[in-house]
Amino acid sequence: MEHQTTIGNVFTLTGTGLHTGKVTHVTVRPAEADSGIVLLRSDLTPNVAIPARAENVIDTNHGTTLASGNASVSTIEHMMSAFHGLGVDNAIVEVDGPEVPILDGSAIPWVEKIRLVGITPLDAERRYLELPHEVVWEDAEAGIRMLATPAERFSVECRIEFKSELIGSQEASLDGFENYAEEIARCRTFVFLHEVEALLALNLIKGGDLDNALVFVDKSLGEEEKARLASLFNKDKESIHVRNGVLNTNEPYFANEPARHKLLDFLGDIYLLGAPVKAHFTIICPGHRANTELAKKISKIITAQ
Ligand SMILES: [Zn+2]
Repeated sequence: MEHQTTIGNVFTLTGTGLHTGKVTHVTVRPAEADSGIVLLRSDLTPNVAIPARAENVIDTNHGTTLASGNASVSTIEHMMSAFHGLGVDNAIVEVDGPEVPILDGSAIPWVEKIRLVGITPLDAERRYLELPHEVVWEDAEAGIRMLATPAERFSVECRIEFKSELIGSQEASLDGFENYAEEIARCRTFVFLHEVEALLALNLIKGGDLDNALVFVDKSLGEEEKARLASLFNKDKESIHVRNGVLNTNEPYFANEPARHKLLDFLGDIYLLGAPVKAHFTIICPGHRANTELAKKISKIITAQ
């Protein structure tokens, strides 16, 4: 039989939340079989447990937020992606604040920590979710289509379409999880410079810097603009440069890194089903709302069986 797993030992990751700018510590602990991934707001008295399940999603703007009562935890998706991609079924995730740190904008810091402590089999059989039939969620107006088809194993084909030529139309895929760590986990989140500026103006990204996202620059930068960006990101003006449409040193690892990152996000969000699922997914222009709505829909269908 295939065993359920947990992590081999406790580990901690510390960093700044992208939206709150607050430093938080995340302590991940081994957990018993059938407990799933459970977040715990350890700074609240009493602590509040928030199971990482689709029905607990309360917000999907600029990241996925889970809540239980008044306690919430934001930006859980890259950590969840690492659990899913490496096959961690059960863990307790203590967070001492409202947001999981953004780290380098990818899932690789989580992957490295999990690999360091190892993955331990538990004395219980792993249960896969199976779809009784095809499931579709779409927002035709926004060009979003999410299709889940029953299959022998997990696979995803992802397509994104951006009007900007810097990204354009891209595809990425994953078949099983063997190549997850090398081909998907290190792909970083991405934004357009004008979005960064708008978010900064609204005070919505306080922990954003030039090291945790690929920033695509869709306009030429004058000297004045460079000076403004330098002060905005606490950098020397001389260090601000654009290469191949990307601001500063964050050269993409792959030509289709944005599509791969969208796939990374999807892996995290769809793991809110609470267990691994045997299905083939075709996702077109996915995002946190589409990912979590699909997870909710699949969850309902499976529960109703
Ligand atoms: Zn992401």
